[in-house]
This record gives sequence, structure tokens and C-alpha cells, in this order.
Amino acid sequence: MVKRTIVKIDESKCNGCGQCVAPCAEGAIQIVDGKAKIVSEDLCDGMGFCVGICPTGALSVEERHTIEFNREKAEAQPAKTDESIRCFMCRSGESERYLIPARHNMESIWVCTRCLPALIHG
Ligand code: SF4
Repeated sequence: MVKRTIVKIDESKCNGCGQCVAPCAEGAIQIVDGKAKIVSEDLCDGMGFCVGICPTGALSVEERHTIEFNREKAEAQPAKTDESIRCFMCRSGESERYLIPARHNMESIWVCTRCLPALIHG
């Protein structure tokens, strides 16, 4: 066991929408019985890339004792794409541009790196 950052899921706030599954490149999050779950804590690197996309605020990052992140296991997870993930401004998908989850006007959105400056600076 080590003390490190890891994603925390508040099941009382989770509506099971599944929007947090695709952003987790390591495959640590899956929907089980209608709720998001960390299926294997050694797959969660605690970076929190999923946090910004949750529309209900169910995801956060905390520091606690858990098992170590297993980079080899994480990198061996099958790659997955989600065609519903697109930049909210230009509609580019993840095969075209780098996409970043963000909160904007009280909504969870994806924005590509080309549109991000316009979002920030107007
Ligand atoms: S994005 Fe949030 S509400 Fe949707 S499944 Fe994930 S934790 Fe639950």
C-alpha cells in the first residue's frame, strides 16, 4: 500500500451517464449496476482527467492509502474511441485533434486544442 492521489466517486451523485468512461485512457472506470466504479485501483493514476467531464460533480481526486498505479497494466488496456466525444466548438473528434474535458457555462464539454484559446480569450 502507498499513499497517493486517486479518483473518488460519490455514488450518491452519479447518474450512470457513462461520460467518464472514455476519458479514462487506463480503463479504470466502468459502469457497474448503473453507477461509475473504479474497477481496479491499480489502473487509476489519479490524474483526474475524468473529473471535469462529470455533469453531476460526482468525481474528485483524493489522497489516500491504496495499491500502487501499475503503468504496464494500464498501457496494456485496449484502446477505445467514443464517436460522441467531439469539440463543442468545431465538432472535431479525437482522431482529428487533441481533446480536453472542461467546464464551461455550468456544462461539461470537450474542447480541442485549436479552439481552446478562443474559448479562454473570446
Ligand atoms: S460522468 Fe459522473 S455522473 Fe456520469 S457516470 Fe461518470 S461519475 Fe457518474
